[in-house]
Amino acid sequence: MEWIDKEKPVLVTGASGYIASWIIKYLLEEGYTVHGTVRNINKKDTFSHLLDIAEKSSGNLKIFQADLMKKESFLESMQGVELVIHTASPFVVRGINNPKQELIEPALEGTRNVLNSANQIPTVKRIVLTSSTAAIYGDNIEVKSFSNGIVTEEYWNTSSNIENNPYSYSKTLAEKEAWEISKQQNRWDLVVINPCFVFGPSLTKRNDSTSIQTLIQLGNGTFRFGVPELWFGITDVRDVAKAHILAGTKKEASGRHILYSDSLPMLEIANILHNRFGDKYLFPRNVVPYFLIWLLSPIIGLNHKYVERNVEIPIKMDNSYTKKDLGLEPTPVEKTFVDHFEQLIKDKLV
Ligand code: NAP
Repeated sequence: MEWIDKEKPVLVTGASGYIASWIIKYLLEEGYTVHGTVRNINKKDTFSHLLDIAEKSSGNLKIFQADLMKKESFLESMQGVELVIHTASPFVVRGINNPKQELIEPALEGTRNVLNSANQIPTVKRIVLTSSTAAIYGDNIEVKSFSNGIVTEEYWNTSSNIENNPYSYSKTLAEKEAWEISKQQNRWDLVVINPCFVFGPSLTKRNDSTSIQTLIQLGNGTFRFGVPELWFGITDVRDVAKAHILAGTKKEASGRHILYSDSLPMLEIANILHNRFGDKYLFPRNVVPYFLIWLLSPIIGLNHKYVERNVEIPIKMDNSYTKKDLGLEPTPVEKTFVDHFEQLIKDKLV
């Protein structure tokens, strides 16, 4: 028998999300039974794409209702489960009014809730947590203090707090708490996935994930007057999904895993799209000078501190541990962006 029994269900929290949908698709195609949780089971439109995928694949899918903020609400979906994949956590970086309530509490309480539930379910052997490189560094400037200026799994984000990058702070607190809870027992082990900014085709027309919003804005003219020279580490959503499954099913997998294809400034992402899709879409064609971005920052929803600590600061990451531990090679960024934009066109989102 394999280490994770294929006859036992796998739990995926936040099933309707951008990343979780791909994880569930691959699990179903491999014949697993998946228990997926959603916040509101009456909103069938948020998970009907998963029911369609389940119908066409060899696996089975059962949807449960669970909320990160409701204690023990994950218990029912965890019955008989050996592998828990915990993806649910709010991914919002703009328009946040109450960071404690909107980000910190659901990320942190949700992690406690899911992991403490696993302590009550004797079948659980492994938990794979979707963290982020946001738990490794906050502002790009922080990376300058890392050895050779390269992001590796050994670092933790020390610059984010409830006012500065609250999303990154929520991911840092949640991952730290997960390691703490895992250390207090020895029945299940924890493996963590740390993607960068995730792009690649979505399995739904839903556009509320920050990843999808960002690509839509690059194509719909929001940045037609130019973009700041802002560098992002890029990860393909399909690599993220495969990494979660490998991290769950490879017995020897351990630790944190940076998922990284390359880092690019926003204009280079736009250039990839412009080269493939041409002038039909209003892709940005130039970089807005630093002083202008600094002056305009309060109007465009950034603040001076963010500009000073991020704009024109390239970042590099080391993905060698992930390649070695999970045997996963990253998808080239050109494929990620072209496939993603094709999906937006197909689904009439641009
Ligand atoms: P997403 O599509 O917005 O998914 C977020 C998921 O979290 C949704 O399924 C959402 O459920 C669920 N959720 C949020 N608050 C909840 C609550 N109170 N109770 C239950 N579920 C709740 O975004 P995503 O990109 O797939 O993100 C999934 C995970 O990947 C998150 O942990 C995120 O931090 C992490 N991540 C994302 C990126 C990226 O660039 N996309 C990069 C690194 C890490 P509803 O459907 O009910 O809203």
